[in-house]
Amino acid sequence: MEILKFSEEHNKFRQHVRNFVKTKIMPDVEQWTKDKLMPKSMWKVMGEAGLLCPDMPIEYGGKGGDFLHSVIVSEEMIKSGFFGAAPTAHSDIFVPYIAAYAPEDLKQKYLPGCTSGDVITAIAMTEPDAGSDLASMKTTVEEDGDTVVFNGSKIFISNGIVCDLLILAAKDPLEDDPYKAISLYLVEDGTPGFVRGAKLEKMGMHYQDTAELFFTDCRVPMANLIGDKGGGFKMLMDKLQQERLVVSIWAVCAAEYILEKTLEFYKEHAGPGKDVPKSQANQFALVEMATEVKLARIFLDSLLVDHIAGENVVVETSMEKFWATDMVNRLADRCLDIFGMGGSVDSCPIMKMSMDIKASKIYAGTNEIMKTIIAKYMNL
Ligand SMILES: Cc1cc2nc3c(=O)[nH]c(=O)nc-3n(C[C@H](O)[C@H](O)[C@H](O)COP(=O)(O)OP(=O)(O)OC[C@H]3O[C@@H](n4cnc5c(N)ncnc54)[C@H](O)[C@@H]3O)c2cc1C
Repeated sequence: MEILKFSEEHNKFRQHVRNFVKTKIMPDVEQWTKDKLMPKSMWKVMGEAGLLCPDMPIEYGGKGGDFLHSVIVSEEMIKSGFFGAAPTAHSDIFVPYIAAYAPEDLKQKYLPGCTSGDVITAIAMTEPDAGSDLASMKTTVEEDGDTVVFNGSKIFISNGIVCDLLILAAKDPLEDDPYKAISLYLVEDGTPGFVRGAKLEKMGMHYQDTAELFFTDCRVPMANLIGDKGGGFKMLMDKLQQERLVVSIWAVCAAEYILEKTLEFYKEHAGPGKDVPKSQANQFALVEMATEVKLARIFLDSLLVDHIAGENVVVETSMEKFWATDMVNRLADRCLDIFGMGGSVDSCPIMKMSMDIKASKIYAGTNEIMKTIIAKYMNL
């Protein structure tokens, strides 16, 4: 059943991405995992090959593709075994804020670099005491002449260490309504008062950094505002549909990858005299998982069609985000069981992907927050 309509050109792009991932990414992933970072030089190689911001319009240095090109990049990376959330989050979650809301001069200044890999982006919303409840953020922004000054800190910021350009959410202390107090600004690497803290040690996604960031009297031109002053909360909410769809793509592709590798292992290792029992328990588990993966894929593809058509599918996207990320984690646990002891070692083909996908239940809004959104729309 084909829901997404890929053109001949999309199919050629897919072949190109598949070949790139096989020859230029997969041979180095183990080293990046040991180094706990993909080198910055790789971003430029990916940019040159057209894998960054593939939907960027030509006037901003892009190839003028569409969101299906972005879908292809995520799919091909994950189905090859490279979770690769750092570059796809840059392309499909962070840069879209600049493309949609920045004034024209800032778009001209930064977007070509975002596409070429010269400008790596990050977005800083979360704080130690403001995760799900963003309205309670404490980082302040105060006007001073034609500049603004930031004070505060952020945590769990993807690409926080490697970013050249940060989209920073900060609050006007003079505005009482927390939903009208947040604005988004661009902060360049090297701006005095912008200091990177610890690169956090985490359970998966070792080839990308997640970091703490600190701002002490950090000053940028007022012209670095993107969107309306006080419009930050609304912009963050407006972009969440695509962010949650992207996370759903990651979850469904990871589930497809883990299931495929487990089926290969099972077919080779299950049977009389072999190390895995060809039991009805294992067969039923695999059948049930294959069914869930299929359901998640069909739901995802139909949402992608609606999203590309510009429809509001916030509620359905929230459903897919919580269900697909829960499903892939259940599936990963069950598949690791089938590998037995082999499931606990690095060489197991699904072990790293199972760790990489773990936090998908948390970022882009936790799965509990997804359910609060759906409950509200259902008038519960
Ligand atoms: C790998 C990773 C990468 C990340 N990258 C970024 C990034 O690039 N930029 C960025 O700004 N942030 C990033 N984050 C942060 C992420 O957005 C937050 O972790 C997330 O919003 C949850 O916030 P919290 O961790 O403070 O949890 P909390 O909000 O403190 O929640 C703790 C628990 O309480 C539950 N809970 C909270 N409120 C409610 C409620 N109202 N109803 C029911 N249950 C509730 C939650 O579901 C959760 O189970 C990243 C996080 C991770 C793990």
